[in-house]
Amino acid sequence: MRAVQYREIGAAPEVVTVPDPEPGPGQVLLKVTAAGVCHSDIAVMSWPAEGFPYRLPLTLGHEGAGTVAALGEGVQGLSEGESVAVYGPWGCGTCLKCAEGKENYCLRADELEIRPPGLGAPGAIAEYLLVDDARHLVPLGDLDPVAGVPLTDAGLTPYHAIKGSLSKLVPGSTAVVIGTGGLGHVAVQLLRALTPARVIALDVSAEKLELAGKVGAHETVLSDENAAAKVRELTGGLGAEGVFDFVGAAPTVATATAVAAVEADVVLVGIGGAAAQVGFGLTPFDASVRAPYWGSRGELVEVLELGRAGKIDVHVETYGLDEAPEAYERLHAGRVNGRAVILPNG
Ligand code: NAD
Ligand code: ZN
Ligand code: ZN
Repeated sequence: MRAVQYREIGAAPEVVTVPDPEPGPGQVLLKVTAAGVCHSDIAVMSWPAEGFPYRLPLTLGHEGAGTVAALGEGVQGLSEGESVAVYGPWGCGTCLKCAEGKENYCLRADELEIRPPGLGAPGAIAEYLLVDDARHLVPLGDLDPVAGVPLTDAGLTPYHAIKGSLSKLVPGSTAVVIGTGGLGHVAVQLLRALTPARVIALDVSAEKLELAGKVGAHETVLSDENAAAKVRELTGGLGAEGVFDFVGAAPTVATATAVAAVEADVVLVGIGGAAAQVGFGLTPFDASVRAPYWGSRGELVEVLELGRAGKIDVHVETYGLDEAPEAYERLHAGRVNGRAVILPNG
């Protein structure tokens, strides 16, 4: 089959032919209908050889949807041809966190070397994808896999981030979204669907701010050195009760903490690697900072329900498998508005 692989440190991803995977006992083979392109892959492909955590070559793609092509021995509850979405943050399935459905926080994944597809295990930007266990699949039903596939990360990750702060986002509150790309433009919609908060969106790109406004942001602010002062002004000097940073670089983390209100949650989702300064006198009283990762299995079911109900609508650009390297280039250059989705069998 054909697959898109990151093969060598520092090299661009390539379309290659690899052996067709076959499902072993308990596994499920999917014919991939759609696979999303996430900025985390750009980060992975910028990491140095020293300490690089995955084996190369690595088939990319950690947002996947497909139809069941073959069932391994013993798999029940799924039928061939069924349309499913893949829950990506695979865990061991038996530790306390996994038992709670929070496989994203599996206590044994490192020890057992369990890796998500596209982030260690072979990923979804390929004609076929091997899924290690049927519990990592959620039926899509009549939800369009192309619009639905980004919900497995670009939807699930902000959903998990926002859900943890719902108690702060009461009537009269403000939520700030920094970086309204793939994840951020879904975050704006989730905030509108789940909370009565006023939503202020920040980005460096006028095009992305326009999309943020279109999908529900009440205010849009250019993310520059004056952004924090503007957000303060828009909130009568009080700041925002929920701040969601989908960049995580030094300037955005500085803005995120600078716009926090008393008792605010500052949620760092972007993996830009910057640290927040928290301390008495440095941050407003009782402000908290969190850095969550992906989401739980239950939350994926919930976010897919929101998609099915039409409460969130991911803005997608589609590409063929051969165009996947170009999609990564465009994402790297900041030219993807919304989410790029690869159609490996399209
Ligand atoms: P994206 O490229 O689609 O979006 C990033 C957005 O940030 C773009 O709109 C860009 O214009 C904007 N931006 C860049 N610099 C900015 C600045 N200084 N101020 C404001 N906006 C700025 O990327 P994505 O796929 O949505 O991913 C967003 C981030 O989330 C990445 O760092 C990614 O690695 C990370 N991520 C984290 C998790 C997690 O579990 N924590 C999961 C998925 C993605
Ligand atoms: Zn991702
Ligand atoms: Zn576990």
